[in-house]
Amino acid sequence: MEKKMKEGEMKEGEMKGMKEAEKNVDGMGKKMKETRRKTMKMGKKVKDIGLGIKPPENTCNSDTCPWHGHLKVRGRIFNGRVASDKGMMTSRVSWNYYKYIKKYERMQRCKTTISAHNPECISAKSGDIVDIAECRTLSKTKSFVIVKKV
Ligand SMILES: [Zn+2]
Repeated sequence: MEKKMKEGEMKEGEMKGMKEAEKNVDGMGKKMKETRRKTMKMGKKVKDIGLGIKPPENTCNSDTCPWHGHLKVRGRIFNGRVASDKGMMTSRVSWNYYKYIKKYERMQRCKTTISAHNPECISAKSGDIVDIAECRTLSKTKSFVIVKKV
């Protein structure tokens, strides 16, 4: 009988401990939510995009921003010059490179132009040298985003 009583006590004690732990977890969750709301209001929350690049000084409330929105960056990274910034939140980034043609034993001059998303916080103008990184498809012809002004 004594053993059974002890077991019962132990179980009760464990249950109390569990309840306290749950309460603590709930408290933490509330705190986290409050801090998140505050940072959202202030607009200063900057995400780490995982490329080891410094975030821009300006902030924005855009959802399709790698630093302040939910846009995730993965895949290829290029460095180029902004050829056009006429598009709405879009700019054309181009860069030159040389390709060897075996038959003629000479180098061919090539040029690549890619349309990249231009977030408000970066807002690159034509002539700027920028880093662009691959992201999800944002429109029919746009799957890159400007990450940094060099
Ligand atoms: Zn931004």
